Amino acid sequence: MRFLADAMLGSVARKLRIFGFDTLYVPDTDDDYILKVGAEQGRVILTADRELFRRMTKEGAKGVLVGGTSDLDDIAHVFEKLGVSVDPSKIGSRCTACNGVLEARTPEQVAGLVPEAVRARHSQFWQCPGCQKVYWEGGHLGRIRDFARRLEGRLGASKG
Ligand SMILES: [Zn+2]
Repeated sequence: MRFLADAMLGSVARKLRIFGFDTLYVPDTDDDYILKVGAEQGRVILTADRELFRRMTKEGAKGVLVGGTSDLDDIAHVFEKLGVSVDPSKIGSRCTACNGVLEARTPEQVAGLVPEAVRARHSQFWQCPGCQKVYWEGGHLGRIRDFARRLEGRLGASKG
């Protein structure tokens, strides 16, 4: 399942990436480009724009209209619509900033790239080969695991 998020959904796009979903985010573009790339790359288009969603439906593109109220609401809605869920083993597999696939790093390899106090406390790091951003458990990944738990609670609750 690959996604394309429109300009209003940058924060949703970052969360989908950290869940491991290949997510293209195109903040500076128009609806024509979004429809074209979505079709060409077989991506599910996510938008909060009703007009764009109407066009998608008319042109047969695959997409989900979200409310744009909160990331939790939006992602829960997308997952319900598409029948997908978070794979815990995939959390932290993609870069939130650029969609790159993260690679494992030792504390030695991230010397100078993260605060020394962080480096001293952790034995496992991940780095994006695209933009060089470094990730570790407890920081960004800790927050996203909390978000994943809230999301699962939400999805479980709505199943009744
Ligand atoms: Zn990156």
